[in-house]
Formats: sequence, structure tokens, C-alpha cells
Amino acid sequence: MKRPFVDATTLRKIVAEYPTPFHLYDEQGIRDNARRLHQAFAWNAGFKEYFAVKATPNPTILTILKEEGCGVDCATSTELLLADAVGFKGQEIMFSSNMTSLEDFQHAHQLGAIINLDDLTDVEYIKQLPTIPKTICLRYNPGGNFSISNEIMDTPGEAKYGMTRSQLSLAITQLLDLGVEQFGLHAFLASNTTTNDYYPTLAKILFELVRDLQEETGAHFTLVNLSGGIGVPYHPDQKAADITAIGSGVEVAFNSILVPAGLGDLSIVAELGRFMLAPYGHLVATAVRRKDIYKHYIGLDASAANLMRPAMYGSYHHITIAGKEDAPHDHIYDVVGGLCENNDKFAINRKLPEIELGDLVVIHDTGAHGFSMGYNYNGKLRSAEVLLKADGSTELIRRAETPEDYFATLKLPVRSSL
Ligand SMILES: *Cc1c(COP(=O)(O)O)cnc(C)c1O
Repeated sequence: MKRPFVDATTLRKIVAEYPTPFHLYDEQGIRDNARRLHQAFAWNAGFKEYFAVKATPNPTILTILKEEGCGVDCATSTELLLADAVGFKGQEIMFSSNMTSLEDFQHAHQLGAIINLDDLTDVEYIKQLPTIPKTICLRYNPGGNFSISNEIMDTPGEAKYGMTRSQLSLAITQLLDLGVEQFGLHAFLASNTTTNDYYPTLAKILFELVRDLQEETGAHFTLVNLSGGIGVPYHPDQKAADITAIGSGVEVAFNSILVPAGLGDLSIVAELGRFMLAPYGHLVATAVRRKDIYKHYIGLDASAANLMRPAMYGSYHHITIAGKEDAPHDHIYDVVGGLCENNDKFAINRKLPEIELGDLVVIHDTGAHGFSMGYNYNGKLRSAEVLLKADGSTELIRRAETPEDYFATLKLPVRSSL
């Protein structure tokens, strides 16, 4: 049984202050989870989690993670600006981009970020930087299918990211010639997976490859980047990943592959986004309309513009009606937004308690890839973001957009009435 991290009484008080819809974040949940992650990898002295900024690009959230010892993983110049504004310095920033412009590489280099190269042709861009970075990370794509115990997890052969095995060798040789001294190896082979075997399986692949590449090229490897991909149980029947077991699984691979190869001081780093934030965010909306035709619809004041995942991927997001957690779930609804798009549905044929207009609807697990994937289709405005702090108080950490924001980039033919 999945329950919101706020009870209905608290939620009504919050809604009295901040009108729906908004994304609500649970500070204590975020901190506790970050501490569990660090505990699970405490065996590795250099361990660092570089939070994938794209998951939740909010300075207050990034500050909380910074206080918990995390760095940030950026992919664009704007994300670098955000990281810099929050106070992340030098190697606290990972730059894992693709199809990257020289300007973006220059920005990352100027901040002293660890640059993670997606492609062999990126080496030409490194040559054009004012100085050659001491450390460079390389992204690997093994091609084909990625399987764990005969189950296909994902298809790297279809993914645009990373370099082939032979390109890795070439990139390292070229970068050694340029004067790069330390190398990292990165791969992201499966997304949103709750199996405890993903990181250990990936670690084994990368550790063996680091051992082989070091032998082959003489390059000195100092880090392995396991990237993102650890998932969360969106559905109540799903089991959560056990981060302690995951940390131990990576440690076993480390001790059996890297330590005997004399690579026992190598740092493990991660770029988790979803795992760090998804469960600690809710999209809070109000049931504003109902409609009974061939099916029963509940219309919310939120739409896919506030949470794209169901429309884009058909993703399940659990829904709780505040105060009706234990009421019989004896109604079947499609819970929808008001976009002129028929995929604007948070839930289809969902068993829920009877919903009355004015009920507060909590959409779970929106803390990552939630607000950040929002858009302005149909003139829908982005919502506010509110932080529920560890002491029970709340803080508006992003105001809701206004029509002025929507019009800010437009050239209007006539003076608007705004
Ligand atoms: C998106 C992304 C992540 C984070 O992925 P999650 O699934 O949110 O953990 C990490 N690294 C890179 C390069 C990414 O593109």
C-alpha cells in the first residue's frame, strides 16, 4: 500500500497557502535516501553521487543534495549555470553531454568540471580547449542487447550514446598524446530498473574493461562512472531496489576484478537522478470537473504539461485521494488533464474511491523527471514547486508561471493588455 508522505490534514493546510497544482518535495525523505546511498558505498573512499540535474533542476533541491555530499551531473550550458549558481565547484561537476557544442565544452572546462566524452569525434573539441583537462571520462556503448540473467534489460545497439570498444582505445591513445593523465569509464545501459543486479552487472563490465584498457594503452584510470538507471517502484506491487545490496554487489565485483589488478584505489561514482528524487515528490492537484460519457472521467487542474511521463511513456503513477486513503476503491476512473490531446491522462481505468469535486489528488513519484519535463502546450503554465521541510514548515522554491512568463519571449504585433 503506497501512501503519500503528507497526511490529508497537512496537505489541506499546504493547499490553503499554495494553490494547486504544484509539485511538493519531501526534504527529510531526500536526505535519508541520500544518506542510505552514501552508507551503501562507504567502502569506496572516492565514492561520489553526481545528481543528474535534468531530473529536478531546482536550486533548493540541489542545495539539499550538496549538503548531503552530492555533486551534480550536467548536460548543457544552462545546467552548468545552475550548478555554478548553487556553488558546485570544479570536480563536484560532471559534464555528461552528447552532440555537444564547443561552447558547452568550453563552459564545462572553465568551471573545472569532469568532462565525460560521448564520442570519438569529441577529442577534436578537447584539442580546442584553452588547456587540456587532466582528467577525462569516456562513455562506452557495448552495442547489441544488455541482459541480466538472460533477461534483456535494454538495447544499447539502438542507443545514440557512447563509443564502441575500438573507439575507446583510439580515444584514449589520442587523449594520452594530448597530455590527459587520468581516465574514467562510464556507461548507462538500462533505465529505471529496480533489480539489485543492474549496478553490479554494469560494474563488472566496466571494471573488466578498465583493467583491459589500462593494460592495452597504459592509461591511468581513476574512476568508474556507473551513471543513472536505478529505478523506483512506481507501482505498489513493485519491489524497491535495495541500495545496500546494490552497494555490496558492486563491492564484490570491485574486490574480485579491480583489487587484484592493482586498481583498488579507483573511485566509484554515480549519476543517479530518479533514484535520488522520484519518490520524494508529489504532484498535488484538485479534482475540478467530472464527466460521464462512455467512461467516467475526473478532470484535474494539472495536466500532462505538469507531468509528461504517463502521456509520453504510458507510465504508471500511483494516485491517492487525500483523506480517502482507506476508503473502498470501488469506482473506476480515467483521471485526466485539460489538454486538447487524448493522451493527457494520469490514469486509465484506475480503481479509486469515489471522487468529489474539490478533492485533493496526489500523484506519486513525481520528484524526478516530473516538473522538469513540463511544457507550455495549450498555453498551460508551469506550476509552482513547494518544499516540505524537515521541520514540517513549507517553502515556495519555485513560483508558478504567469501569463507574463508565457509572453516574455514573444514579439507581439500589438501591445497586450497584460
Ligand atoms: C538521465 C541521465 C542520468 C540520470 O538517469 P536516472 O534514470 O534519472 O537515474 C544520468 N546520467 C546521464 C548521462 C543521463 O542522461
